[in-house]
Amino acid sequence: MTDMAQKILVTGGAGYIGSHTLLQLLLGGYAAVGVDNLDNSSQVAIQRVQELAGEYGQNLSFHKMDLRDKPALEKLFASMKFDAVIHFAGLKAVGESVAKPLNYYDNNLSGTITLLEVMAAHGCKRFVFSSSATVYGWPKEVPCTEEFPLSAASPYGRTKLFIEEICRDIYHSDSEWKIILLRYFNPVGAHPSGYIGEDPRGVPNNLMPFVQQVAVGRRPALTVFGNDYSTKDGTGVRDYIHVLDLADGHIAALRKLSDPSIGCEVYNLGTGKGTSVLEIVASFEKASKQKIPLVMAGRRPGDTETVYASTDKAERELKWKIQISKQEVVRLSRASSSGKTSKGRFLESHGNGRVNG
Ligand code: NAD
Ligand code: UDP
Repeated sequence: MTDMAQKILVTGGAGYIGSHTLLQLLLGGYAAVGVDNLDNSSQVAIQRVQELAGEYGQNLSFHKMDLRDKPALEKLFASMKFDAVIHFAGLKAVGESVAKPLNYYDNNLSGTITLLEVMAAHGCKRFVFSSSATVYGWPKEVPCTEEFPLSAASPYGRTKLFIEEICRDIYHSDSEWKIILLRYFNPVGAHPSGYIGEDPRGVPNNLMPFVQQVAVGRRPALTVFGNDYSTKDGTGVRDYIHVLDLADGHIAALRKLSDPSIGCEVYNLGTGKGTSVLEIVASFEKASKQKIPLVMAGRRPGDTETVYASTDKAERELKWKIQISKQEVVRLSRASSSGKTSKGRFLESHGNGRVNG
């Protein structure tokens, strides 16, 4: 590790997006410390990130810790200095949040407040937060720009909204804070080695892992939730962004935190393109030369019709742009679910963790 390397604390580092971001951080020359309570992940992901990062793997350390454990967090911050924190740790299942709202408010809000308190006490005031396009609710028009009105349709969504507001409030109370709120659209795919990725327990809620499980024969058919929307083919439209492009967005955000003019800013991370359920299925079938059986069903409660991002602000101000096309996203998702790519080829083509510009 060089003396110059910035040290970044990554909460939720063993999780799906956290592990990919750790990898991109290491490849980009950062030193990183991951913390995670491993509620929804395994420490194996950390070892795999270290392996995939090769010689940079030594710049990663890990602590099993719950963010609500303030003494443990205090001890960590007392033992080393962090240049910034990227905060992924949280519960994320919309349906579960409706059934168990207090778990969500306790985990997501208390965890974040404890983290922010400890950061402030140790003079670390650079913060990147995982927000979500869910804060746009059912948007009146698309693409969604960062100025759109905000709403929440579930306790999960409300935790995102509340945390965004908390961040705006702490910046107003103390302008030393530099905060970037990243609103993710639909993260999909995995590192093509298949070493790290998303392996939801039980029945997947999200479209892409479900399609992957149908493709590998773990489930008989994809249930399409609604084909009567006012969209090109009647099915829901979303903005599917590859997780490695998303991870690179965090590195762009870290760079932006060095901009003296930054206060508390929000950026969308998406592709700027809407894709329907049937289009995803068709691309998957084309890439895998395999039929995905479909069962048409009614709309899923709480679902929205069409949501995709305006990426203008992120492209302009973060100098970040997706590098993986829609076809590649599907091809890589298919390959990572069947372990059919080589990590060498991918790292050559995707590069070394640098973002555009
Ligand atoms: P994930 O569940 O894979 O990762 C979150 C990690 O946080 C898990 O490893 C979990 O064990 C850990 N964690 C949870 N509560 C914790 C706590 N109190 N203390 C320490 N660790 C804790 O989820 P992900 O998909 O990687 O999502 C990361 C973040 O991005 C979450 O905040 C999520 O809400 C947000 N987000 C995700 C999506 C998505 O579709 N995946 C979309 C928008 C926003
Ligand atoms: N979807 C579907 N079948 C599934 C899972 C999802 O038809 O088994 C649809 C869903 O209705 C939505 C799109 O796929 O139109 C994306 O759903 P996902 O849950 O992945 O993302 P979100 O709705 O949270 O944006």
